[in-house]
Amino acid sequence: MTVLDSMEARIRAGEVIIIDGGTGTEIPRRGKPLCPQTWSGRANLEYPDLIREIHEDYIRSGAEVIATNTFWTSRTGLKMGDLDDKTIEINQLSVRLAIEARNNVKSDKDILIAGSMSTFFPMGKPKVIPEYEDALASYREQAQILAESGVDFFALEMFVRTLDARAAVQAAGEIGLPIWIGYSIQSDGEDLYLGTDEGRHGNETIKDAVEAVESAHGISAFFIMHSDVKDTETGLRILREYTSLPIGAYAHSIDTEAARPLGFLGNQGERIIDRSVDEYLGYAKDWVGAGATIIGGCCGVTPAHIESLNNGLRIS
Ligand SMILES: [Zn+2]
Repeated sequence: MTVLDSMEARIRAGEVIIIDGGTGTEIPRRGKPLCPQTWSGRANLEYPDLIREIHEDYIRSGAEVIATNTFWTSRTGLKMGDLDDKTIEINQLSVRLAIEARNNVKSDKDILIAGSMSTFFPMGKPKVIPEYEDALASYREQAQILAESGVDFFALEMFVRTLDARAAVQAAGEIGLPIWIGYSIQSDGEDLYLGTDEGRHGNETIKDAVEAVESAHGISAFFIMHSDVKDTETGLRILREYTSLPIGAYAHSIDTEAARPLGFLGNQGERIIDRSVDEYLGYAKDWVGAGATIIGGCCGVTPAHIESLNNGLRIS
């Protein structure tokens, strides 16, 4: 039985698994700038010690899964910052930093490394999202590099369009590693749709999101992630209606209204409004109540939040 198999058995038995929090937003919080074109992607090259340290802090905080800092490092994503000629180097390096963090901390738990791949939704401008074949080619390349570099499985993150989700799932599925897929949701005041704080992205719903990929090879968990803490519980309850697979949540902890005038959410670390660890834990308890068994955090969620989840949620 692999480590992931044993984790999945624990999830099926009702145990809550704690995963890491935000990586990109830890960069400005720790005094280094994010890249306006590639978000956290460039930091792997420029601040590798910082990225490794962030992973280490999450492992020390009790996370059993850390996601590589590869949210924005597909060739398509890196091209925005003229870094596409370093696609292989940056993705290999990102996995190496996560593996080094796992080796350095020597946790008494088995730490799994998730290879993060995300939708192409840079700076909230949906027009740059490529079409299916282009997205598939970019995901295929990144999935191959991440797998060869040693990730344990894939975490597909922040999807707001089923077309991109299907491309990423196809690419990851061809590798043969398990796949966790996370969708971002946005409320229009009444109903929830796929989307981010930049707004609803079309009319696709959580039901559409599940149906688009549920039968694909390798899908082993669905997530509501990078979504407002206030929408996440409702999103999970809807998700639970449409899938019998494990579900999880990693919401963000940012005041999007305060960050919006800055033009690029989170680029100014001091404007990320922390929800207190207790407040975040309170929401997370509701997510567990809604059936979620894998819990962590996204933008603005720090190792302190993860430590609080680890102490407050873990049922063993
Ligand atoms: Zn996020």
